[in-house]
Amino acid sequence: MKPAAFDYVVPRTVQEAVDALGDAGRKAQVLAGGQSLILEMHLQRIRPELVVDINRIAELDHMGVDDSTLRVGALIRHRVFESAEAVPGPLGTLLSRAVVNIAHPPIRSRGTMAGSFGWAHPASEWCAIGVALDAVVELRGPEGVREVAAGDYFHGPYQTARRPQELITSVRLPLLGDDTGVGFIEHRRTHFCFAQVAVAATLTVRDGVISEARIGLVNSADRPVRARAAEQTLIGAEVGSPPTGYRLPDNHPFAQAGRIAAEQDAAPLAEPFADVEYKRQAIAVLVGRTLSEAAADQRSRVAALKEGR
Ligand SMILES: Cc1cc2nc3c(=O)[nH]c(=O)nc-3n(C[C@H](O)[C@H](O)[C@H](O)COP(=O)(O)OP(=O)(O)OC[C@H]3O[C@@H](n4cnc5c(N)ncnc54)[C@H](O)[C@@H]3O)c2cc1C
Repeated sequence: MKPAAFDYVVPRTVQEAVDALGDAGRKAQVLAGGQSLILEMHLQRIRPELVVDINRIAELDHMGVDDSTLRVGALIRHRVFESAEAVPGPLGTLLSRAVVNIAHPPIRSRGTMAGSFGWAHPASEWCAIGVALDAVVELRGPEGVREVAAGDYFHGPYQTARRPQELITSVRLPLLGDDTGVGFIEHRRTHFCFAQVAVAATLTVRDGVISEARIGLVNSADRPVRARAAEQTLIGAEVGSPPTGYRLPDNHPFAQAGRIAAEQDAAPLAEPFADVEYKRQAIAVLVGRTLSEAAADQRSRVAALKEGR
């Protein structure tokens, strides 16, 4: 199918883009990587009257670190994060482990992190990492700049706090300290499918006990989920040696956190090839395994620091 007819503008500045989005109340869509928008336009599930192509706005093509924050401009493509060195510390590792799960290389070469926040698909890896880490979405509209915490930003599938005239200018993520380990594990039917379920986790350990845990669940509700109940059960737990077996003992804190995440934090929706019960089981297992991965990562970081590596 061909897209319905639409007007097309190519602004050179953020202000021009905001002006275009507010243009006479026309139904407008932002074109970033186009990896979701163009497909939907071809299927005529989205029929914008105006497409605002932001790809020539140089100020959006910038990523930087200041103090303790990574600022990802709206034109930074997924593929940038394939190298763990692109971002300092454990955050770079987490993003690099997650990004290889997003579609395949041509899509990662065009698609943007901000575009994933614009689209708000419940199976987006970036969006779940965003809610787990308390990311901030920077929006620019006719009334100026607004910042929305990721936890308040997602309202449901493809539903967000963004107003139609607002442009996402960047997504800000906190950098993670060297006492934090990270994990990301995804489960899907075939390599290029969206996740049936995926989990992002960070563990901060002080004096042998967990002082902070963050768990993000992908495709485990109608929006990205932060598994707060599961996180709470981990605070103060002793880490010890990371579990080695394929299956965690039932009484292991990570296994318990997995069950709580599946039963209390997640609200999975049935989909072809994965009913609700299947998804809850997958969430329970994946949370346990991802926490184990984060614990192993944390130990190796601390060991490397001690050895001066
Ligand atoms: C085959 C296939 C497999 C895929 N698999 C995955 C996957 O596993 N995981 C995953 O997360 N994604 C997946 N995607 C989607 C891909 O990651 C997209 O790149 C992403 O969803 C949107 O980014 P984009 O830059 O391409 O945005 P676009 O397609 O250009 O825009 C998408 C939406 O976001 C809005 N938008 C974009 N940028 C902004 C902005 N700066 N301000 C305001 N609104 C904005 C647009 O108006 C539009 O509504 C897949 C896509 C395909 C085609």
